[in-house]
Amino acid sequence: VHEFAIAESVIDTITAKTGDATIREVRLEVGRLCGVQAEALRFCFELAVQGTAMDGARLDIDEPPGLASCQSCGLEFEVRDLILLCACGSARVEVLSGEQLRILSVEMAA
Ligand SMILES: [Zn+2]
Repeated sequence: VHEFAIAESVIDTITAKTGDATIREVRLEVGRLCGVQAEALRFCFELAVQGTAMDGARLDIDEPPGLASCQSCGLEFEVRDLILLCACGSARVEVLSGEQLRILSVEMAA
């Protein structure tokens, strides 16, 4: 879907802070429920960094599972995909986390 735009905005955000510094590694956190495919994002990132100060940077993606809470029985449970259903059979489920997409760290060459 929009992975290329996300990759570009991550790169823009980083280069706006680090300028021409050589970036060795970028760590991202991509929640399982944010709707972004980590592998597609990696592919787009590798294309988008070409010719920038970040060319050759390694991308490390953390994919924490989501956490949801059932409105019917109160159970909190891990969610690994976009289908939200509690073990009690209820789909009245509130997402507590897993929709985040953020930069965890950036490592620059010394
Ligand atoms: Zn439930």
